Amino acid sequence: MNSYTTPLGEVRIGWMGHASLILEWNGKVIYSDPYSEVADYAGKPAADLILITHNHYDHYDPAAFCHVETPATKFVVSQNVGAVDARYQVLENGESTEWEGIRIAAVPSYNIERRNEEGNHFHPQGVGNGYVLDFGGFTLYIAGDTEPVPEMEALPALDVALLPKNLPYTMTDEEFIGLGNRLQPKYLYPIHFFELDYDALRAAIDSKIQLVNPKKYD
Ligand code: ZN
Ligand code: ZN
Repeated sequence: MNSYTTPLGEVRIGWMGHASLILEWNGKVIYSDPYSEVADYAGKPAADLILITHNHYDHYDPAAFCHVETPATKFVVSQNVGAVDARYQVLENGESTEWEGIRIAAVPSYNIERRNEEGNHFHPQGVGNGYVLDFGGFTLYIAGDTEPVPEMEALPALDVALLPKNLPYTMTDEEFIGLGNRLQPKYLYPIHFFELDYDALRAAIDSKIQLVNPKKYD
C-alpha cells in the first residue's frame, strides 16, 4: 500500500486489480469498485464504506463485497446502481455528501467517442460517477470508466488521481497521458488497464507528477 499524509490523518491506498481499491484511513476501511475476478475478498477487512462508480459487473459486484459488507457498511453509489437498501446512498453527478468528515463529490464519468456494437456509449453521460474524496484539503480522484470529458476542467487541484486506461471502454494511452498532464495531480495511478507499459507512460508524463506503478495489494 502507498501511504499519504493528509490534514485528516494518514491515508493508505491499495490497488486490488482492475479498478478495485482499498483505502485505509483512521482505522476505517473503504473499498472502491470491489471486483471478485481480480481479488479474493474473503478474509479481507470489513468495509466501513463502499464506493461504486457504475453498474457494470466489473465495478458493481456483490460476489466481491458480500465478503466484507456488514449491516453497518455504508454504500455510496451511482444512480444506475440505485438505492438497493437503506445502506445505499445514491449520488447523481454534481452531488456530494459527507462521511466521517470526508467530503465525497460525485463527478461526471462517461464516454464521448466509444460505443458498443449497437452504437450506444459503453458509459452514457449522466449515469456513472467519478468520486473526489476530500480529506481536509487532500484530494483523491477516482475517475470511474471515462474518457477525458470537459467537466474535468472544473476538478479541484488533485493530490492523487486514479485514471482508467484501456480500449474499447475508457482511454487510450495518449488520452491518459494528455489528461494526466492537464490535471497535474501530485500522484497519478493508471488503473483498469489490460496492459501497462510503465516506462513509456513515465517518459510521457510530466516529471513533476509522480507516476505510480501499481503493485497489487493482497
Ligand atoms: Zn464500465
Ligand atoms: Zn470497467
